[in-house]
Amino acid sequence: MSGKNCFEILNKIFIPKNKEKIENIKGYTIKYGNIVEENNIIDEVLVSYFKEPKSYTTENMCEINAHGGNIIVKKILELCLKNGAELAEPGEFTKKAFLNGRIDLTQAESVIDLINAKSEKEMKAGIKQLEGELSAEIGKVKKEIMDVMIGIEVSIDYPEYDVEEVTNNQILNMLNNVGEELTKLEKSFDNGKIIKEGIKTVIIGKPNAGKSSLLNRILKEERAIVTEYEGTTRDTIEEFVTINGIPLKIIDTAGIRNATDEVEKIGINKSREMANEADLVIAIIDSSKELSKEDEEILNFIKNKKSIIILNKIDLKQVITKEDKRLNDATSNIIEISALNNIGIESLYDKITKLFELNEINLDNNCVITNIRHKNLIDEALKNVKETKKAIKEKMPLDITSVYIKEILENLGSITGEFVTEDIINKIFEKFCLGK
Ligand code: GDP
Repeated sequence: MSGKNCFEILNKIFIPKNKEKIENIKGYTIKYGNIVEENNIIDEVLVSYFKEPKSYTTENMCEINAHGGNIIVKKILELCLKNGAELAEPGEFTKKAFLNGRIDLTQAESVIDLINAKSEKEMKAGIKQLEGELSAEIGKVKKEIMDVMIGIEVSIDYPEYDVEEVTNNQILNMLNNVGEELTKLEKSFDNGKIIKEGIKTVIIGKPNAGKSSLLNRILKEERAIVTEYEGTTRDTIEEFVTINGIPLKIIDTAGIRNATDEVEKIGINKSREMANEADLVIAIIDSSKELSKEDEEILNFIKNKKSIIILNKIDLKQVITKEDKRLNDATSNIIEISALNNIGIESLYDKITKLFELNEINLDNNCVITNIRHKNLIDEALKNVKETKKAIKEKMPLDITSVYIKEILENLGSITGEFVTEDIINKIFEKFCLGK
């Protein structure tokens, strides 16, 4: 429970062992005692006390640790509600922490990222954001702008005073620096997106090339952490796999993995449709057979995409080899495997690591943006940096320039939550689970 009356409510349902008064109990302590209802003991519990402002929400808070089991927990919850508590909305605790100013919006958002993290890198990115790394980065940029902005405002408001006028060169200098730093952040989203969403991967190949064998092989991989993901469309499942820290989101169609009937298997057209939106296309070819028309179509299709050709079934007599010109015309990323005998799968992971420079993703020294909301606002800020520069080049008066600069500040302020509408706040916290 969190809020003004939480101790009052607690008082009605909890009796500490030595009957200590709540006023005498310090924050950050745990008391042992009973939850009671009309003199009946409901459970033996531990209660932790947090006194304002030193709590998650900055309000008075208490946490009741009961014995597990649905009935007891439900009963205690009912008792709290009966005595005046209200059920929290999703994310309400974190929302309070934000609204009460203990954390900013980026930090609040990182809480849900942490809870939902599917890989260690994602978790690490979340923790760094919670620690305020992004806020600090944005704060630095804002300060740079403010330093110049103060001079501009003084020049506008008090032209009669003898203040050194901010020169356009000074503003341009600042804008260049700000542009550079924001671009760096914006670029980090390429990696951030991979960390958060994985590399969206589609496996295509003609029937019997070995698509489902490969997918099963990957999913059964001992070092793979598999997360079942609900697909975005009804007829696809997304399998999230992290192999050696490589996050792959494989768009699995019912057709690839589970179909027993050839007719049910996903048509190449459908796979193509999905491959168009993928970050990576894996084209699998049966190396024991001459290339069919379908194979050639696939090779043609992957030409301008980030792709890997897998020559499967190398345990059989090879008809197609790595050196084949028709393959090399499509991509130089060609590897040989036997999905059946588990040969060469390692080289697939190596190839993906190289292709996406996954080893280069370094969270230690760089601030990485993983949130699309932040990315969009940074894009917006960069656009306004450009507009401001244009205004200066067109010799607009200082008060017009300052309007543009304020827009940049507003964009950055929306990231950290100084300038956000209630709508946006509600949307962000809706995604939280209850009680977080
Ligand atoms: P899909 O239609 O592309 O999903 O292909 P499957 O994965 O269902 O494989 C078709 C057939 O090829 C199955 O009988 C597999 O056992 C076989 N197969 C798959 N990979 C290999 C391989 O590396 N070597 C051999 N010899 N057979 C394979």
